[in-house]
Parts: sequence; structure tokens; C-alpha cells
Amino acid sequence: MKLQELETACSKSGLKMTGPRKTILKVLVEAEDHPSVDEIYARVKAVDPSVSMATVYRTVNTLDELNLVTKHEFKEGFARFETNTDHHHHMIDVDSGDVIEFTNVELEALKEKIAEELGYELIDHNLELYGRKIKD
Ligand SMILES: [Zn+2]
Repeated sequence: MKLQELETACSKSGLKMTGPRKTILKVLVEAEDHPSVDEIYARVKAVDPSVSMATVYRTVNTLDELNLVTKHEFKEGFARFETNTDHHHHMIDVDSGDVIEFTNVELEALKEKIAEELGYELIDHNLELYGRKIKD
């Protein structure tokens, strides 16, 4: 979601667009790496040192409740957030913590097929792959 769209969605949901919130949204939209709350806080603080951790924490959780960000738990003991709402999956590098996004047409078809075989209409799915980089 683009910054403008996100701001509009927030306002519609009754979330007032204060300065700190705008900064938090901008950091989220510009992030390409699925940042944790700590990482979001560090980036927000670099722009506006007056924003507190509590504000970042509360805002991110409110955005999650409003379904304006997606929260991920990648078995790391902390949550990561993203604003990319296009359907995609994640490969998590267990050594570096890097998160690589991917899509796969064959996978989508296969999941539809599996659901159908089980007698279900597929509503949603979520795939996380955990891997270690092959060294050459
Ligand atoms: Zn993602």
C-alpha cells in the first residue's frame, strides 16, 4: 500500500494522522525488509527523536488490528511487520534473518487442488520457508 492510501485508510478508521503516526507510516511503507518494532522505532527516531517506543508500539498494533499492516511471526521470538498487501510468501534465512519475498504460480494452483481434494474452497493460505543459504 502506498503512503497516501495508508493515511487515507487510517483516517477512515478513525486513527488521527498526527506527526508521529505519519512518520511511522512512512517508515513502514518505505521498509522492504519486514522490520520488527525495534527496527521501526530506530528508523522513526532517526527522523523524529521525540517519538517514543510506546507510540511506535501502540501505532503498529493498532494498524495490525485495522488490518492495514501484516504481522508475521517467523519463529524468531519477535514480530515483523509489512505493508505489502500483494499476495506473496516468505523465505526466511535462519542465519541472517533476511526475509525474501516470492510468488509461485504452480504453488498457488497446487494449493487450490489440495483444498479441493479435501472438499474445501481455499480462503487463504500462508507459506513460510526456512532455509540456509547454499555456499558455493
Ligand atoms: Zn512480505
